[in-house]
Amino acid sequence: MSHLETSPRVSVHSVAGVGSCCYVESLDIAFDIGVCFGKAPGRKHVFVTHGHIDHIKALPGHAGERALCKASPATYYVPTHLVPHVQAILASFECMQEAAIPATIIGIEAGSCIRVSPRVVVKAFATHHRVPSLGYVAYTVTKRLHDDYKGLPPNELIALRKAKVPIDVEVVAPAVAYTGDTEVSFFEPHNDEHCSDFLAAPVLVTECTYVGDKTAPAKATARGHIHADQLVAIADRFRNEHLVLTHFSAQYSLRNLTATLTDTMRCMPPSVWLAHGDVWAALSKDEKEATGL
Ligand SMILES: [Zn+2]
Ligand SMILES: [Zn+2]
Repeated sequence: MSHLETSPRVSVHSVAGVGSCCYVESLDIAFDIGVCFGKAPGRKHVFVTHGHIDHIKALPGHAGERALCKASPATYYVPTHLVPHVQAILASFECMQEAAIPATIIGIEAGSCIRVSPRVVVKAFATHHRVPSLGYVAYTVTKRLHDDYKGLPPNELIALRKAKVPIDVEVVAPAVAYTGDTEVSFFEPHNDEHCSDFLAAPVLVTECTYVGDKTAPAKATARGHIHADQLVAIADRFRNEHLVLTHFSAQYSLRNLTATLTDTMRCMPPSVWLAHGDVWAALSKDEKEATGL
């Protein structure tokens, strides 16, 4: 699989309890590193949601692959309490390897904003999981002319710019949101202060560990996860253009998921994608579906 045709494009590889990673090549960022797939080794900024093994176990491999290719060390942003554990794991790998595995580990908290490049900012938000966990929103930063200078002739604008007059303002807009693991309460109105940018981002990649009748929604919540029916119950909250459902339980196949969700997801945003392991499908409202099988 290369990428989903969302805008911006995202690449997702995820199975609950096995391994999760999502990257956005155009923004040069990755979320979680429970598996290192596709062009993930090329991503220099990796944001880890929490310490469950399926979200972090491929971090040493990612760092090692970059070292092998002589790429500059990546920066791994991890919840602060995980920093000594990640450092110890890398130190063990370095002993086994008998060589350095360069990596920069940065502790991050809910509310932290990281400017990964002049045009990309990533902010961390606390999600609702069995262990402390962060979700992330990547924002694009663009510039537009300040209202006070609109209508001025081009030669005057050029002169102002030459004189270093700050005539532009920055416009920061959510582009891609990634929840990592969470209960559905993260998306509910009482949590608007923390979830509103997730609901507004053009692309929302959310966990949806359970579907169908075998596991009840209440059980999904008890396990710190989301059941698809819980997303449908709050469908009118999602203003995204693309909703990418992922982190499905290993008990399902993509065929199961497509069959179960095609009808139930009709009320959701215009474009709904399922990403399961290394395959994906687009649920189309007109019964036709594109698949990355
Ligand atoms: Zn997980
Ligand atoms: Zn987890």
